[in-house]
Amino acid sequence: MKDHILEIKDLHIQFNTDEGVVQALNGIDITLERGKTLGLVGETGAGKTTTALSILRLVPRPPGEVVRGSIILDGIPIMEQSEYEMEKIRGKTVSMIFQDPMTALNPVIKVGEQIAEAISIHQKLSKEKSLAKAREVLELVGIPGNRMQEYPHQFSGGMKQRVIIAIALSCSPKLLIADEPTTALDVTIQAQVLELMKELKQKFHMAMVMISHDLGVVAEVCDDVAIMYAGKIVEQGSLEDVFLRTKHPYTEGLFNSIPNIDDRKAELIPIRGLMSDPYNLPSGCPFFDRCDYAMDICRTEKPVKHSFSDTHFTECHLYTAQPEFSLKSKKTKE
Ligand code: SF4
Repeated sequence: MKDHILEIKDLHIQFNTDEGVVQALNGIDITLERGKTLGLVGETGAGKTTTALSILRLVPRPPGEVVRGSIILDGIPIMEQSEYEMEKIRGKTVSMIFQDPMTALNPVIKVGEQIAEAISIHQKLSKEKSLAKAREVLELVGIPGNRMQEYPHQFSGGMKQRVIIAIALSCSPKLLIADEPTTALDVTIQAQVLELMKELKQKFHMAMVMISHDLGVVAEVCDDVAIMYAGKIVEQGSLEDVFLRTKHPYTEGLFNSIPNIDDRKAELIPIRGLMSDPYNLPSGCPFFDRCDYAMDICRTEKPVKHSFSDTHFTECHLYTAQPEFSLKSKKTKE
């Protein structure tokens, strides 16, 4: 039997705002094995960050509201914990790296002290021992220990992101959530930070959820991939399933809109239109207006899950009537 660090079932989250109700997550199911990395991919507004914050139980309430569903993290039902318990779980069992290293560090506290603080809170060590451990962790992410005394503004963007990674890893979490960790960095630094994350993940046998809109980043570090659209996972599978045996028209659209290194002359085909208004999701498939394969049924009926193997599934009407349907046979350009 597989050993799961994370199991999310039928998670529905909405935001109750003055303008109306935003249906942010509309039935998310995720399972992640220990030591594996899941890539969570989709456009802005698809629900990736809300999914991540819900694992840490950091969705602001109000306006956020968990309508139904469950999250089991390392065997712990997250929704049933007190805030006191959640504070212990955050950092020790699960840590998160945010997109922008500039805002994640306190500008007036030396970086060594910021790492040591995370250690002393979760490991109940003395100040001296926390600082010694902070130095070890800083060196682990490739920053010389003598830079402990410096302030964040003395570090470059890439180095700041290394400090954030050091803080996230300082208590050896079992699951690391990285929300677009390299988006704010330039390309060469991005590659270094991704390489570092891969090394550390293997060294600590840590599971990871990597949120990204960049399929290149996902291909580089992930074992499994979940494609999100309008608060749903529309396709999920191993990296090979999703990249080589693509089933959902939205996933295909994402691949068609990025350059192909094997065919540099191939024209890029962006996905037309915009994501559905989250205040007013359509009654049928939310991708209907943008889909080259749309059928009448897609306008009125929500697609249900169709499995191709134990691990690979999609939510699309195409496979209900024709389980053998192949997207490639109808790849079109508007
Ligand atoms: Fe396209 Fe219909 Fe599938 Fe939605 S359900 S992705 S509209 S074919």
